[in-house]
Amino acid sequence: MIASAGSIDEPVTDDPLTRPMAVERAKEWLAPLPPEKIFGNSYLVGFQGLSVALIDTGAGLVLIDGALPQAAPAILANVRELGFDPKDIKFILSTEPHFDHSGGLAALVRSTGATVVASLRGADGLRLGALAKDDPQFDYGGRWPPVTRLRVVKDGEVLKLGRTAITAHATPGHTIGSMSWGWQACEGKTCKSIVFASSLNPVSADAYRYIAPSSAPIVRGFEASYRRMDGLACDILISAHPDNAGEGRYNNKPGACRSYAERSRKLLAKRLAREQNRTAK
Ligand SMILES: [Zn+2]
Repeated sequence: MIASAGSIDEPVTDDPLTRPMAVERAKEWLAPLPPEKIFGNSYLVGFQGLSVALIDTGAGLVLIDGALPQAAPAILANVRELGFDPKDIKFILSTEPHFDHSGGLAALVRSTGATVVASLRGADGLRLGALAKDDPQFDYGGRWPPVTRLRVVKDGEVLKLGRTAITAHATPGHTIGSMSWGWQACEGKTCKSIVFASSLNPVSADAYRYIAPSSAPIVRGFEASYRRMDGLACDILISAHPDNAGEGRYNNKPGACRSYAERSRKLLAKRLAREQNRTAK
């Protein structure tokens, strides 16, 4: 039999775009959950430890984040389970160029034809499939499938599709290119502001020092991100890692975004104090 060019839906023995990344927490992060409606046209199609959101704009679908490479088939299955066609996904918004949120993007783009939307520095990382030199976690290394179909948006830029307008909110710190996304979902006359927040936690490789002069843009980034999160209309918070937003898959308590920023603010202050003390000794 002559081998024909396989459809992407056919099982393949080794697919470089969905090849499982052997990371310690993969099983915990990707523990399955049924897809769930949050409010109006907004849904969750991700996992227990990694959020993936879906918005039905009425003129195409928008996905936020892509989890790990091996997660792509499950994300697409969740989209289908809600009654949508993954081919209607026009944009995939990215929160940060780290493998746990971006690893599955290349496979998702291949299956849907969607364009990935990210900040300038986010897009640089996604194009490379590797960490930037100024990333606090740079020393950890690691690579993931690079993304080619990219659109760069600036802080404050609004992406419009159908009846939905999604605002890009730069939230640097965890990575310099981190971006959060905000939009309104409505049911009848009731509308709620939803924020899909990038990771804001100060996590670094062992040798990294937030007090180093070279880290100043990262620390300033965190401070700007806290101010931004404090000021956002935020009825419902989805965080890239759900466990950073409180209990459950999302947080709809008043002040959810402010609490999210406050948690990081405390962690960073503690971390900076520890580094100062170590230097003083
Ligand atoms: Zn990260």
